[in-house]
Amino acid sequence: MRQKFIIGNWKMYTNAAEAERLAKAVADGVGMEKRICVAVCPPFPYLALVASNIKDSSVALGAQNLYPEKEGAFTGEVSPTMLLDLGCKFVILGHSERRHKLGESNVFINQKVHVALDVGLNVILCVGETLEQREANQTAEVLEQQIILGLAGISADALPRLSIAYEPVWAIGNTGRHATPEQAEAEHVLIRKRLAQMFGKPAQTVVIQYGGSVKPENAAALLRQPNVDGALIGGASLKADQFLAIVEVAIKQTQSEGKST
Ligand code: PEP
Repeated sequence: MRQKFIIGNWKMYTNAAEAERLAKAVADGVGMEKRICVAVCPPFPYLALVASNIKDSSVALGAQNLYPEKEGAFTGEVSPTMLLDLGCKFVILGHSERRHKLGESNVFINQKVHVALDVGLNVILCVGETLEQREANQTAEVLEQQIILGLAGISADALPRLSIAYEPVWAIGNTGRHATPEQAEAEHVLIRKRLAQMFGKPAQTVVIQYGGSVKPENAAALLRQPNVDGALIGGASLKADQFLAIVEVAIKQTQSEGKST
């Protein structure tokens, strides 16, 4: 059984006071829960503040990006070792907002994946098609390219520190749409097949999260799918009650899977 991941991506939201309040509320709600993996990914300037507010809980810290060098003359960038210093366990790479708004290529994302895994961070690699690509029946091709190029040169030994987030671009944010549980499951199966072609049997252990307008109301149906191993959550992760309600759904799902195995 794969452990469920519930990860909050705070994007470029919160100020210091809000970040502190949110972190405290999430830490209080999650406590020392270990059946699932919960992490929050605040903006860079609040990483240390959030770290100090979650330290007595099982909530892990994640970053939303990094630059693929350990140090150097890269003004304005943040290195993977700096993230480790701040207590980060996870880093989100290849988010669609970075791919589409900041022009990040699969090759650049692959460099980041390598450096992050090399220093010991756990990588959440985001993949997903745009609405135009879905309507042109290019979803499979796009996802396969993002997986093949994003993970080029990665060895199977690194898989325990890799997870994938399938995030259809058309479902992210206030689009009013989310993938149906069946759509999410179908793409997760495709992603797992591709991972199996690349890495063999260990692909079965890779956590594949769904992201795109996950809310307390749709979380259970999504997490019930056999290959939906968690959720990467934007909007609903900024409200402690909503985020914790999704955490609760994941715990219940884990319990019911435990009973049926
Ligand atoms: C995201 O940014 O990764 C995301 C899934 O956002 P939202 O939950 O708001 O759609």
